[in-house]
Amino acid sequence: MPNKTPLRTHSAELFPYPNQDGHLLIAGKGITELINIVGQTPAYIYDRQQISQTINSLLEQLPTQVQLHYALKANPMPALVQHVANYVHGLDIASHGELLIALNSGVLAENISFAGPGKTEQELVAAISSGVCLNVESENELKHVDRLGKQLNTLPTIALRVNPDFELKASGMKMSGGAKQFGIDAEKIPNILQSLAQYQLNFAGLHIFCGSQNLNSDAIIEAHQQTFALAAQLLHGIDDYQSINIGGGFGIPYFAGDKALNVEAITHNLHELLKQYPQFQQKKITIELGRYLVGEAGIYISQVIDKKESRGKTYLVCDGGLHHHLPNSGNFGQVIRKNYPVHISKKQAHKTRAHTEEREMEYVTIVGPSCTPLDTLADNMLLTKAAVGDYVVILQSGAYGRTASPENFLGHPHVKEMLV
Ligand SMILES: *Cc1c(COP(=O)(O)O)cnc(C)c1O
Repeated sequence: MPNKTPLRTHSAELFPYPNQDGHLLIAGKGITELINIVGQTPAYIYDRQQISQTINSLLEQLPTQVQLHYALKANPMPALVQHVANYVHGLDIASHGELLIALNSGVLAENISFAGPGKTEQELVAAISSGVCLNVESENELKHVDRLGKQLNTLPTIALRVNPDFELKASGMKMSGGAKQFGIDAEKIPNILQSLAQYQLNFAGLHIFCGSQNLNSDAIIEAHQQTFALAAQLLHGIDDYQSINIGGGFGIPYFAGDKALNVEAITHNLHELLKQYPQFQQKKITIELGRYLVGEAGIYISQVIDKKESRGKTYLVCDGGLHHHLPNSGNFGQVIRKNYPVHISKKQAHKTRAHTEEREMEYVTIVGPSCTPLDTLADNMLLTKAAVGDYVVILQSGAYGRTASPENFLGHPHVKEMLV
């Protein structure tokens, strides 16, 4: 019997993927076995052990003063959140729906922070009543929270989300610098801090989040240096606050040529920064990560329904596609579509003929069932030869999958999720 080996680790080389004799194993189970348990394709399978290993190895490197939060946006499956909650210090949420998942996971409200523009009154009331920290995104929102706190006879806890005047370079998605819908421009913060005394609010600190999916440790280190400097400047002369959330943005490799993020360099720099800024030594420094903690721990499996040739090109047509996995189709903010790592898994692992057959390769384009050319899972990739009934496994699919996709598009069946 195979060992319970995790899908892969951050330190492992991106290609080829760890497997046993060409067979992917998650929690010791092969693809056919996993499909038998989950009961259908398409399905997402998430690997608990992979997630906890990733988190633990990051925690080992981080200064003890640094708190690690998980951003639910990346994958809000309740069982997965519950699992992650066992290892991290807190959770970051961005809606009332995520608030309930976070609270249901058993994490204390004081360790949950709620960011995001356009929070509704219902969301603010729920956040204040439960006691989570509101990362306030505008001056209007600050006044609204103060008013609601008085009405509810509850002291709201708030952090000010700052839109700094710098950006996180080389990010997949930039969320700071220049004009942004996120946070309050840094130059407006000093006046707001001065005015806080006129509100009835518990001021927790600052939140500075610059961007997402970054594989360049130098860029993250530079943003951390700028973030510490900005926080020191804005909080100069103020001591009654608890924490500074310095954001995240750690990326994972998806495409040929991507290199895993040098996390050691980033954590080393954080140790240095804490020495450089002794005024923060009694404070909590929070980093919030979504994708980095869970992205490599998930796969998306679909089944080949048809195989056809069209003018020299071979197509595998699957039951899964962009309606479950929009980022894999290249339509979630990517400028140029690139192939995610794909693994072909034979439906029956024929013990005798498997070895020759499974080594035969061919160029294929893999598409989903939706009536749009956007529904592409893989374009012109050299993969193990597949037949109708075999499985197409998309790796690096633990984050921004199901809930980042238009699941009702064309009315195809919903995807199932399983945490093993
Ligand atoms: C999206 C988001 C995150 C998570 O980003 P990842 O790239 O998944 O790590 C964290 N914090 C905030 C404020 C976000 O908007």
